[in-house]
Amino acid sequence: MYSVSLPLLMLCYMRHHRTTPRRLDQCLLANFYALSVSVLMTIVLNSKPRSSRVIFNNEDTIIKRTEFASRETLLAQTGHKSLNKHQGNVPVRFITSFNSEWREISGVLRKHWPVLLADEDVASHILDYPSVTWRRSKNLKDMTGPRWGSFQCGDCSACQFMERTSTFSNSSGDRVFSVTHFINCRTDNVIYFAKCACDLIYIGMTTRELRVRILEHVRDIKNGAMALDIETLKTIPKHFRKYHNSNPKTFKVRGIDRVQLDIRGGNYKKELLKKETRWTVELNTLAPKGLNEYISFKSFLG
Ligand SMILES: [Zn+2]
Ligand SMILES: [Zn+2]
Repeated sequence: MYSVSLPLLMLCYMRHHRTTPRRLDQCLLANFYALSVSVLMTIVLNSKPRSSRVIFNNEDTIIKRTEFASRETLLAQTGHKSLNKHQGNVPVRFITSFNSEWREISGVLRKHWPVLLADEDVASHILDYPSVTWRRSKNLKDMTGPRWGSFQCGDCSACQFMERTSTFSNSSGDRVFSVTHFINCRTDNVIYFAKCACDLIYIGMTTRELRVRILEHVRDIKNGAMALDIETLKTIPKHFRKYHNSNPKTFKVRGIDRVQLDIRGGNYKKELLKKETRWTVELNTLAPKGLNEYISFKSFLG
């Protein structure tokens, strides 16, 4: 409970945890008075009388009950559960990440603990020794392992069209979303987000590996250059023929969502169509604001 009363101590440590224990020691000492005040404030705030807690529950009853009571009676602590739960002292817990200086840090806390114990009021609410909890530090896997987002697989011809990012936004750019899956060119059952140099968005879905669908789009864009009637082309090749000379260089894709069915199975395509519709509406990608030509709600029926 009192761990919240240690922000100054923690700030002090965070600011200096890369420095020598001696500097940490000086810093802790300099802030110890502030720490004492902080602990005391927490104790006072956590010991508020019951009358102020229940006054909103039944105002008339409270007014009747307190009308003739003395001020001392009203301010005395009652037998509320949260106050009875901790009979005796509650440890003031110092929580930080484990590091190579853990012995020194514990030593500094132990060395200066008597400063807090010297105050009668504070001493009655804390243990005779500091309690330190070490949080697990980041390991190599945390620092280098795959995170959520859209990535290149690094080993296919679609990689050059794949964007490495963890966010995407709607057509007006005022809403930003996070990718909550790990998706790369070789991920299947994916909802993807494609964009050209003019920032027009296309939302699509595929049950196959994403790289297969990306290369299909690239082929369509290139073939668009040879079309005799531009109006017969699909939305993306038509746009690239009109505005980008049928050059797929500026065609960029990112995976934004995927469908993973549980052990009971289900219909991947139906779930993907639902998500595709949802993202098309959410990101406002219907033409002319985006490159999606139509929207279908069929997947939500039946
Ligand atoms: Zn790839
Ligand atoms: Zn464009």
